[in-house]
Amino acid sequence: MTDLSFKSLSISLEQVKNLASLGYKTMTPVQAQSLPYILKGKDIIAQAKTGSGKTAAFGIGLLNKVNPRFFGIQALVLCPTRELADQVGKEIRKLARSVPNIKLVLLCGGKPFGPQVGSLEHGAHIIVGTPGRVQDHLKKRTLKIDQLKTLVLDEADRMLDMGFSDVMEEIIGKTPKSRQTLLFSATYPDEIKQMCRSIQRDPITVTVESNHEQNIIEQLFYQVKKHERNNTLLGLFQHYRPNTAVVFCHTKAQCRDVAELLQKNNIESLAIHGDLDQRERDQVLVRFANNSCSVLVATDVAARGLDIKSIGLVINYELPRNPEIYVHRIGRTGRAGEKGIAMSLFVEHEQIRVDAIEQYQGKPCLIDSPVSLDLDTSYKLYPPMATIQIDGGRKDKIRPGDILGALTGDAGLQGAQIGKIDIFDRSSYVALEHEAVRQALNYLANGKVKGRPRKARKVR
Ligand code: ADP
Ligand code: MG
Repeated sequence: MTDLSFKSLSISLEQVKNLASLGYKTMTPVQAQSLPYILKGKDIIAQAKTGSGKTAAFGIGLLNKVNPRFFGIQALVLCPTRELADQVGKEIRKLARSVPNIKLVLLCGGKPFGPQVGSLEHGAHIIVGTPGRVQDHLKKRTLKIDQLKTLVLDEADRMLDMGFSDVMEEIIGKTPKSRQTLLFSATYPDEIKQMCRSIQRDPITVTVESNHEQNIIEQLFYQVKKHERNNTLLGLFQHYRPNTAVVFCHTKAQCRDVAELLQKNNIESLAIHGDLDQRERDQVLVRFANNSCSVLVATDVAARGLDIKSIGLVINYELPRNPEIYVHRIGRTGRAGEKGIAMSLFVEHEQIRVDAIEQYQGKPCLIDSPVSLDLDTSYKLYPPMATIQIDGGRKDKIRPGDILGALTGDAGLQGAQIGKIDIFDRSSYVALEHEAVRQALNYLANGKVKGRPRKARKVR
């Protein structure tokens, strides 16, 4: 049997301990297959589904080579979106606890340029960012990557889909040829193969089975007439009575309509799609992760790659054209060994999409009739928590403990009434039991957090 412990790798004892403290006991399959090569300095192409632990694979690898005493950019991670970059940055910061004095700077669009320049001037070792903003910094010469040791392209397929191919090429052109190039992708289309040939040297290819275990996700398809879509969607909620769900839609307009439909039927939901500004997107994701939103209605672009908790039910309001996207969508449910449920609606002319999924998964799709749904019309879904936003965040040196301290101390809340606390640069979000919201806001109207009054409001 292969040794799946992190101890078996040539990494520092501090990192092994750090991983244990993060609760990482054994390597995930993609880690076990790629880390030995990554640590040897090999170029890698890794293909594995969302949630398989790719970030730690490259994070452990790049940290192993960073020299904290040399103040120059030694690792660059490119991600398709700001949310993904945020998430990757957070994970690498956790992994970097094992190496003293490592500085990581996030370079993403939608954020002012000046403070990023300031952070870079202070000297950084690792950059995590989106291609557009990284290129802006290179052009302005506020960023230099000619000493780079490790380049990571995370969700490379997505970056190509988003039209970043030229920008990526330009960025890679500014890195030294001696670099190690690690490419992670959920799918492996020809464009990626071509790109790998031009930017990697003798890469090792690692593929982790993308089909989910047969029995872990229950998949059912419902053939409906166009006018039956909405009622069948509601029927699925009333039949399965999930605590959390994600409904995937094809377009922004469809997202809005479906969210409104659910809303009207006592299923509180939030839509997430490309039209939201960054702050709105942050808020939706925070609320979904902290249990103050139970249903997310999302487009693929908005939801992809995000590390969200295991979801009880995934519904495809419309089937995607590409079966790989289908497999990704349903991979959101049934994580961590829990059984998941994925339901899909399709109309007659979309049968071809069902056929493609059948072929891709190598097994028949079970088709059921909406008539079989056992409707509980008293079903309602409201989230157990609410979220308040407090002005002040990381840049104001606020930490979760400061907020927890103020709310359980002077405000008089019980610890059990307080859920997840998320700190952003200039604001913080706190999940609270509904009954505790007024008490918290009353306190914050006059009281202080970290020595200063802070404005706060309920996020709606
Ligand atoms: P991917 O990039 O493949 O979609 P992530 O890197 O975001 O996946 O990892 C998914 C989740 O798994 C994260 O919450 C991460 O903290 C956790 N994780 C990663 N590696 C391990 C491990 N070896 N043991 C336990 N949890 C892990
Ligand atoms: Mg990832």
